[in-house]
Amino acid sequence: MIRLHDTMAREKREFVPADDKRITMYVCGPTVYGRAHIGNARPAVVFDTLSRLLRYHYPQAEVIYARNVTDVDDKIIAAAEQEGVDPSVITERFERFYLEDMGALGVAPPDIAPHATQEIPAMVAMIAELVASGNAYEAEGHVLFSVPSDPDYGALSRRDREAMVAGARVEVAPYKRDPADFVLWKPSAGGMIGWDSPWGRGRPGWHIECSAMIRAHLGETIDIHGGGLDLIFPHHENELAQSRCAHSGTPLARYWVHNGFVDMGAEKMSKSLGNIVTPEELLKRHDGETLRLALLSAHYRSPLPWTEPLVAQAKAILDRLYRLVGGAEAGEVDQGVVEALADDLNTPLALSRLGAIAEPATLKASAKLLGLLTKSSSAWFQGDTAGADVEARIAERNAAKASRDFATADRIRDELKAEGIVLEDGPGGTSWRRA
Ligand SMILES: [Zn+2]
Repeated sequence: MIRLHDTMAREKREFVPADDKRITMYVCGPTVYGRAHIGNARPAVVFDTLSRLLRYHYPQAEVIYARNVTDVDDKIIAAAEQEGVDPSVITERFERFYLEDMGALGVAPPDIAPHATQEIPAMVAMIAELVASGNAYEAEGHVLFSVPSDPDYGALSRRDREAMVAGARVEVAPYKRDPADFVLWKPSAGGMIGWDSPWGRGRPGWHIECSAMIRAHLGETIDIHGGGLDLIFPHHENELAQSRCAHSGTPLARYWVHNGFVDMGAEKMSKSLGNIVTPEELLKRHDGETLRLALLSAHYRSPLPWTEPLVAQAKAILDRLYRLVGGAEAGEVDQGVVEALADDLNTPLALSRLGAIAEPATLKASAKLLGLLTKSSSAWFQGDTAGADVEARIAERNAAKASRDFATADRIRDELKAEGIVLEDGPGGTSWRRA
């Protein structure tokens, strides 16, 4: 039996899918205009682990895990304007980076990755339904969701009206009938990215994207809706209201699962504080599995302070497990590990049970449920020094370039390329990644 903490119920509940032959999970994915930080990687790793557990627990079922890509957004438009390029240049670049970073952390691609720009007709259709049912209205080229039209609004976040209005940080706009109303569609001026609609040329608000894509790909009610704690309000509250009103009161999700934040100990990790740690940077010094284990070392609902000792400890655990597992092939999965994961994804307990397994084949199979010990033991220990070595050779190449010895510089670049290391020269120096 799997038990999950459901944010709507505020308690752990036995997980019973609506259809045990087809299990659906949707997780809000990245808005692709910048590099992910390690806090963004936490939901990717947590829900990847949950999807592994579901696939193990329901071997006969089709588990459909959808994670969207928000590729139209005001931050994307601003980034594109700043660079003087089409928004698609920004979104394609940062989606590629996101997939590379998450792939390095052992996150499998979701089964479905719907892109907002590819799903505009589904969003327009849902907005039109909400207008027809009296749950939305048009005003000055905008379409707004009417919060007072939904008596159940606020059920997920359990906020009173005042807190909702304050929390939504709503801009005071003269066309809003109620300060809590939120945008479903907004006008796009001039050359700005936009699509034709019954309300003029424009683009969708963020919340409608998930509601429309969930319906199009998974159905009116899904089993699990996931994301970070910060999405409960307003994003998930708004998704829920839109879908419930468009579907005559049918709930959007049977279980709402939210992960906690990664912080920097005393302070929150945020761009404005300038204390962002990115997988891109961390992967130069650490193996992706080390970072994955560090992210799974706390229970997903707890805050996770990101520190160097945390990463060092994760590395030490993996060294010990890799020494034990050697070149073993996967055998039977340890039921203690399964039970720990099935209890609301208790990864700290699962890791401690993993550490107690003495049989290499059992260890290999059980670690796979957590996305760990995926390499051979020899590859793990060889990879140890690779990062430092690459940095040393980049320094050597820089010295060669500085003394105009371009033949040596090119030779070093080609040698690294042959080892699967790609160098990227930019204004801030040379960075590298594994191809
Ligand atoms: Zn969403």
